Parts: sequence; C-alpha cells; structure tokens
Amino acid sequence: MAAAELTAFRASILHFRGDPGSGSPASSYDYLEDGLLVVERGRVARVGPAEALLASLPREAPVVDLRPGLILPGFIDAHVHYSQTDVIASPGRNVLEWLEKYTFPEEARFEDGAHAAEVAEFFLDELLRHGTTTAMVFGTAHRASADAFFRAAEHRGMRMVAGQVLMDRNCPECLQQTPESVSRDVRELAEQWDGHARLHYAITPRFALTSTDAQLRLAGELARAHPNAYVHSHVAEHRDEVASARALFPDARSYLDVYDRFGLLRDRAIYAHCLHLDEADRKRMAESGAAAAFCPTSNLFLGSGLFDVEAADAASMTFALATDVGGGTSFSMLRTMSEAYKVAQLQGQRLSALRAFYLATLGGARALRLDDRIGSFEKGREADFIVLDPQATPLLARRMRSAKTLEEKLFAWMILGDERAVKGTYVLGERIPLAASLSP
Ligand SMILES: [Zn+2]
Repeated sequence: MAAAELTAFRASILHFRGDPGSGSPASSYDYLEDGLLVVERGRVARVGPAEALLASLPREAPVVDLRPGLILPGFIDAHVHYSQTDVIASPGRNVLEWLEKYTFPEEARFEDGAHAAEVAEFFLDELLRHGTTTAMVFGTAHRASADAFFRAAEHRGMRMVAGQVLMDRNCPECLQQTPESVSRDVRELAEQWDGHARLHYAITPRFALTSTDAQLRLAGELARAHPNAYVHSHVAEHRDEVASARALFPDARSYLDVYDRFGLLRDRAIYAHCLHLDEADRKRMAESGAAAAFCPTSNLFLGSGLFDVEAADAASMTFALATDVGGGTSFSMLRTMSEAYKVAQLQGQRLSALRAFYLATLGGARALRLDDRIGSFEKGREADFIVLDPQATPLLARRMRSAKTLEEKLFAWMILGDERAVKGTYVLGERIPLAASLSP
C-alpha cells in the first residue's frame, strides 16, 4: 500500500457490531482506548490498536493524532426536514396547528430554486458541524427543493436520502400536486439522482392527512416501479392526527394500515414518530421491514407523545434516532440521545448510553439499509467519521475526569454534549473545513 493513498487517525475508537439492546453489550461493540483508523481512498482499510498498527504502516504514511478524542462513525439522522430550517423554535399547540401556521407558508418559498439552494447549503453545513454525515431528508412539494438538496449534498460528497413531498389535499393549493406531476417528478428525480454519487431517492408522501386515496395509491405504484427507492413519511405522531386519519380512512384497521393497504410498508421505508401504534401495528412494521424514526426533541416540543422503546423491542420493530428539525429543536444527535434517554425515563424504561450511540450510528445505518456502506468501521466501509472532544466545555472536562468506564464517558457526552463536543467531521476520510462553514 503506497503511503500517499492512506492516512491513519489515532485516538480512542468506538464502533458497533450489533444492537447492545438490553442484553449483554460486550459483544456488540469494539472499543480501543488507543486505536488507529487507517483510511485508504476514502474507505476503512484497517482498525486496531495503535501500537501494533503503526509498526505495519509505511514510514511516510501521515498519522493524524486526534488524542484525547473519541473517533466514532458519523451520526445518522433518520428523519429531518431541510426545508424547515427556518421554522425551528416556532411554538405550536400541536403538530397540525404548527404545520398550518409556520411550516406550510415557509415551504411555499421553496418553489424558488435559489432559496432552496441557499437553505440546503446552510442545512448541510449545520449537519456537518453537529457531526451528522448521513440523513433521511424531507424536501417540500417542489421538485426544485429536491434538485437543490441533491446538488448541495453531491458537492459535499455526503451520503444522503431525500425526496420532494407529495400532497394533494388539506394544505395550501400551491403545495398540491396532480397525479401527472407526481408521476413525472418521481420518475425523473429517481432517474437523475437515485444511485448517483452517494445519493438515494425517497418517495415522500407527507402523511395520510395530506394525500387522497388516489395519491397514496399512486405512491404505492411508484414504489413498486422503483424497488430501490426509499419510502419516507410520518405516522401516529399526535392523537388528533390519528383521529383525523381514522375519519379520512374509515376502512383501514389503523393509521399505519392506511400505508400498508397502498403498499407503502416495506424495506427502506422510514416512518417518523410511531408514537400511537398498537401491538399489531408494531408487528406489521417489523414484518414489513419498515423502520421507525424516534424523534424525541420534536415529540416533547410539540407535545406529541412518548416513543415506547420497550414495546418497539417486544415487537422487534427496528427504530433509529432522528432530530425532525424543524419540529425538533436541535440538529445535535447528542442532544437527541439525551432527550431520548429522558423519554425512556418518563416511562420507567431504560436507554443506555451504549445503545443511544448505537442507534445514532450503526442502528441508523441498519434502519436505512445502508449498513453495508456506513455506520461502522468494518473493512471497506466508507470512512465517514467524527471526533468527540472530552474537554469541549469546562463542565464536560470536569465530569470526564471522574468518568472511569466507556459507558460513563458516553453518558457524559450524551447528557452534557452538543455540537461543541464535535471536534471534527470527516466525509470519506476528508476533514470538512468547519471554520469556513461558520463564516457568514
Ligand atoms: Zn417530520
């Protein structure tokens, strides 16, 4: 291996092999107190103890010393709206009022491609600053919103899943599409972007309340015609929304069943929230291969409800963590983990720090069926990673001094940490110049 083709990064290293769950966690992760991550042409070549691996490297190979940091795979945000960047921190009585009052008017602005591009640039810089390297992203009803987002993500070399939103009722007319425009836009966007660079296309009905039967049927047909595409939507976020879904689709067994009837539950389908599901729904999610996005800051902020971790586990329902900005209140997956922990606490449930970090890395990759490419440091994986700083703030540094075990350290990062703890973000082994991103 020629030295110029590889770079080694030295620090503590953590990545997961499986879900720590509530069982025995030791086999679920690899942790190296003094480790070396060797990256060759943007991919993981080797990972192991620093002493042993350093001796095997060509003498001239660059070694980036990131001690006393912790190297982790980049965070994965399983559900977020780039188009809601400017409505973050807008209060609402519940999600339905919040959509009407802030979100629909803001999303109407994305007809303008220049506006969409400006927001996409800011949004992606913000994700990177917070250590998020992959996300499942909602655009708006406009095709321009998807094009602008994909272009910005391609420019940064990021692995991203996105799509324009499908709606044809219960929203402003300017955000509604016709069957013809949906068919054309899905086909053309999927052809142009799905599988291009590191990008993936998602068929994205907003939720059952804003799509007629005809539009959901069409979305299901398009999903069948594009088996590699993702499906991305919301379900059972708020009780009022569940009641509306029941009234609009009286023949469906449940709100989730609406999507099932139209062929929208499957592998590579991500449903945000999944708060007010019953046991049959959770089983159906698990059987179908669909995954839930647990969005704690959004669920608390909008007063939507509490994600039931134990019920999800009992049904073997796959779930990952997500910010759901702008209903969510932070781009930080560390803050998201902290709120997820508190949501579990409120129900007398447990979410360990190990599991929270799993959910934000390999767990997210598995939910998105991307674990053969990202989410861990197995040989050949794409080298998207971050470095966490144990001394990011005076309080964190002080707490870390008495943290003895890995679990204690991870817990301190997740409860006290935010983007200040993300010392560096690397995409395909290249450090993203965060300082430049921060300039106005
Ligand atoms: Zn959402």
